Amino acid sequence: MEFGMRFRRADAIQRKAARSWHDVECAPLEQVRTIQEAKLVRQMEWLGQRSGFYQHKFREAGISFSEIRTVDDLQKLPYTLKTEIRESLGAERPFGRHLAAALSEVVQMQASSGTTGSPSYVALTESDAETWHEMSARCFFAGGIRPGDVVLHAFSMAKGFVGGIPIVQALQYMGAIDIPVGADGGADRLLRAAADLRPRCVLGAPNFVAYLAEKAPELIGMKASELGVERVIVGGEPGGGIPAIRAHIEELWGAKCTELLGGTDIGVAYWSECDEQSGMHMVSLDHVIVELLDTDTDKIIPFETGVRGELIYTAIGRQASPLVRFRSGDHVEVLGTSCSCGRTGPKIRCVGRTDDMLIVRGANVFPSAIQSIVTEMAPVTNGVMRVLADFEGHTTQSALTVYIERGPARKQADDAELKDKVETRLRNALAFRANVIVVSPDTFEKPGVAKVALTLRKRPDLP
Ligand SMILES: [Zn+2]
Repeated sequence: MEFGMRFRRADAIQRKAARSWHDVECAPLEQVRTIQEAKLVRQMEWLGQRSGFYQHKFREAGISFSEIRTVDDLQKLPYTLKTEIRESLGAERPFGRHLAAALSEVVQMQASSGTTGSPSYVALTESDAETWHEMSARCFFAGGIRPGDVVLHAFSMAKGFVGGIPIVQALQYMGAIDIPVGADGGADRLLRAAADLRPRCVLGAPNFVAYLAEKAPELIGMKASELGVERVIVGGEPGGGIPAIRAHIEELWGAKCTELLGGTDIGVAYWSECDEQSGMHMVSLDHVIVELLDTDTDKIIPFETGVRGELIYTAIGRQASPLVRFRSGDHVEVLGTSCSCGRTGPKIRCVGRTDDMLIVRGANVFPSAIQSIVTEMAPVTNGVMRVLADFEGHTTQSALTVYIERGPARKQADDAELKDKVETRLRNALAFRANVIVVSPDTFEKPGVAKVALTLRKRPDLP
């Protein structure tokens, strides 16, 4: 199946009844590896000719491009860190020293929505852009979007963010119709568009799509579940993988909810859940080689059910902003390696991000993991929590302070019991000591358009 940059709708419609958007998603992994290694060799040649950044990096490591011919060979190479990419961008405008195409070949740029430091700018050639569309289309298809579907776009459309224009493009590419309001358009406009246009699918961040549905009766006089939406696809933050949050979204919208994961450097999305909802499949192994790094032992480990690690990406077939062994900062757990849907890519769930990780007496703690536990404990909690991280890097204090809001039906008199319950759950599940402070519901802000920060940098003024 070949698609031109100018999407061919008729081709897309033909894929409607297929089991996956691209056959490679269901191909045996040995066959996929052959494709990966052929493309890896070509990628190394490209970098050898075009990338001053990687020429320097390989020279420093004492390795030549021609030595890297297999997936295992990648382990001879150093990682590419986000800090290196930031430095490269600072050293040479606009796309950094790691730009490996002429500016005249670049057709598009995107920016990461970095929470720390300045945004990271990514350049795409025509071929790169098409690969991005293809990877996203596979994710959307796995999550249930079909050619001809009308899709409510509830991710932000702002500032070159990958959740904006690239999603519009990928939906066009696969023959679906984007309703381009965006989260920045506000809940009111999104819901009015949904009431007028009756989308079959909704795309957005989990907290925000839940918030939208909660607002629907007030803003449009009907429940979200009456809008006829059948699919809600969420991403951009961890919530979709938390059973309680997923169940909440499904109930509010009366629709099936699946999750996807990607980034801003390698593409928009390349992991996506299928109908089985049992973890996100890697759906683009022919465009990205993914390694799993056990950060405790510093070893690359196989994708086997139950293991955890950080995702390391090498783009293959990438021209303008190529990355080799890029440390994503995404920490995942492998949930499975086979599936009733026929896809062969491993299935994962994201357990947290390096950027958010706190080190409490040597233990790695992700606020999103605490959030999962607290959410699962509803209705004794209402799922809203904040971690107090008033320290830099790591803390030697014996316990991490965690604020949780008591569930709506709970009495303040029972707070001590609730505190004890949550502290025990957190210690058993995540192996760190928490000092839980129970606060009344609505102490912390309700989720809105912006991603909810789970971490407080200073002690809040509480009543
Ligand atoms: Zn599946």
